Amino acid sequence: MTDPTTDPTTGHTADHATGHTASGPTASPAGAAGAEAPGRRPRGFATAAVHAGQEFDPTTGAVVPPLHLSSTYAQDGIGGLRNGYEYGRSANPTRTSLQVQLAAAEGGSYAFSFGSGLAAEDAVIRAVMRPGQRIVMGNDAYGGTYRLISRIHGAWGIEATPMDLSDVDRVAEAMSAPEAAVLWVETPSNPLMAITDIEALAKIARSTDALLVVDNTFATPYLQQPLALGADVVVHSTTKYIGGHSDVVGGAAIVDDADLAEKIGFQQFAVGAISGPLDAYLATRGLKTLAVRMDRHCRNAEAIAAHLVDHPAVERVLYPGLADHPGHELAKRQMSGFGGMVSVQLAGGEPAARKVAEGTKLFQLAESLGGIESLMNFPHEMTHASVQGTELAVPENLLRLSVGIEDVRDLIDDIDDALAGL
Ligand SMILES: *Cc1c(COP(=O)(O)O)cnc(C)c1O
Repeated sequence: MTDPTTDPTTGHTADHATGHTASGPTASPAGAAGAEAPGRRPRGFATAAVHAGQEFDPTTGAVVPPLHLSSTYAQDGIGGLRNGYEYGRSANPTRTSLQVQLAAAEGGSYAFSFGSGLAAEDAVIRAVMRPGQRIVMGNDAYGGTYRLISRIHGAWGIEATPMDLSDVDRVAEAMSAPEAAVLWVETPSNPLMAITDIEALAKIARSTDALLVVDNTFATPYLQQPLALGADVVVHSTTKYIGGHSDVVGGAAIVDDADLAEKIGFQQFAVGAISGPLDAYLATRGLKTLAVRMDRHCRNAEAIAAHLVDHPAVERVLYPGLADHPGHELAKRQMSGFGGMVSVQLAGGEPAARKVAEGTKLFQLAESLGGIESLMNFPHEMTHASVQGTELAVPENLLRLSVGIEDVRDLIDDIDDALAGL
């Protein structure tokens, strides 16, 4: 068996991600397990999410693959690995199960599960970039992503160019400057809900030999499939909708290209920012129900956005499902639903935003998003405090709602009560 420290290219995470070597006697590629049934039409998303990488345990028949906590694996003689498992940092069957499922969900061939979304982003950037290169990114990217790139990778010699990605010609210009190696897109964006044209930016990236990375955390693979639209890498904070229950922190990177998979897989193995087995298990369980949860998140968010548009205390509702949202037509084209996130700007400015943020009862004041319970966030001082005073700063009268799956009537009453207190 190959030593991964001397030859990372032969079969570590990359092969495991496809399930070719790592799933035991019932091993099958991600496709056969979920995405395609040979000779028939491709299987649907919900089927893949429930079944890919989730073969029953061959020893007991347990329908749910067991949680593997072991950090190391007995060898049948020196180098005699069973199904490629050697040591928990290089591969773990529970993580493999999640990676196969994630790859199928995003329509990719390889997936890598990390300890957080930012750990996944860091691994991708350091796997594909070198000091002296430049990354062009949206000027309303997640604050933590901007902090990572500007302060950690910046100190390492990467230059960040944040800009408005809706102006495709200007993006093409920025990308044709020398050393633009990566174009980083988040759509819908956080927290302004801007929609970016993935297909158009993929063409620009391809024509300049750069890689297009899409942060698909807000949309989820259920609503948006960036690889099919031409993206090279999809990243996720699985902490959000994929985990779905606010009980796990995790991240993922998904690719279709074998060379890219090799680079990211080696980074994951050599640096070690992997997800632990229990976290991987929880993310897998979450992903199985993503489709049904997203249907309800979308329906509730649409109802809340429609309700708030007419409220006198509200200056503006930012939701791509609204016909007057600047990205509405594009969202209709590249997404199969408008998502569960709604941002609202209040007419009463920052004081009103603070009061409502602290005034709801069902909507809990907390960072993060994508869980079954509704959350309220005041980005200026919470999730986006790190970008205050930069060009990524967010309006001070903005509230970001992560709309949960509760009864929507109760959620609307909760918001109305808080707005009535202004
Ligand atoms: C939360 C989030 C991240 C970071 O993920 P962590 O799991 O918190 O490290 C990245 N991108 C987006 C869009 C997010 O919402």
